[in-house]
Amino acid sequence: MPTELLFRQDAYLRETPAAVEAVNERGGIILDRTVFYATGGGQPGDVGHLVRADGSLIAIGTTIYDPEDKSRVIHVSLEGQPLPAPGENVTAALDWERRLKRMRIHTALHLLSVVLPYPVTGGSIGDGDGRLDFDIPEGGLDKAEVAEKLNALVARHADVTERWITDEELDANPGLVKTMSVKPPRGSGRVRLVAIGDIDLQPCGGTHVRNTAEIGLVAVTDIEKKGKQNRRVRIALA
Ligand SMILES: [Zn+2]
Repeated sequence: MPTELLFRQDAYLRETPAAVEAVNERGGIILDRTVFYATGGGQPGDVGHLVRADGSLIAIGTTIYDPEDKSRVIHVSLEGQPLPAPGENVTAALDWERRLKRMRIHTALHLLSVVLPYPVTGGSIGDGDGRLDFDIPEGGLDKAEVAEKLNALVARHADVTERWITDEELDANPGLVKTMSVKPPRGSGRVRLVAIGDIDLQPCGGTHVRNTAEIGLVAVTDIEKKGKQNRRVRIALA
């Protein structure tokens, strides 16, 4: 059974009741549904706890997609944790503070790709900081200038919304997606587009804040040269 991905419908859901479907020999726990984001798109898997019926906790160190069946999510318990039995009912509860920081940074990185409209070659999201790597032909990027433009977009208090289109609609309307640096996930027949007001529209399966106001002030902490045509731009929540 595929895991029901509640974070896709509501990134603000902090916990959910769930049933244990399977437990592997490496301490990986598969639930029927989850609020835990699984590692992907440069965003690390969520951390948190499973709460058992007796109130005891199982600490989850990260979350990944099952390499053998990508439709299932594995909650990777920390070493030495007690493991639940298949069929057991638990509450899956996120480390919300950490997730919210990741959501703020993730959404800010969408805006950074608007400030710097160059092909993105990589990126990663941390707890309160993150980076994008750009294919930029010449240098001359100024940290203060990038920060000013980024914060101006944050200050527009734009709503972040999503909509799904079919693979065929995407193929027929390539102009729908401004930034094709992130390849839309294919195969399910549908693509999830994330819009930030009229500022940005791109395919993304990650978790975002509801409005750019929630990002708050952002600092550009570093612009690093990575090879002849690459610039790594690091940002952090101020
Ligand atoms: Zn995103």
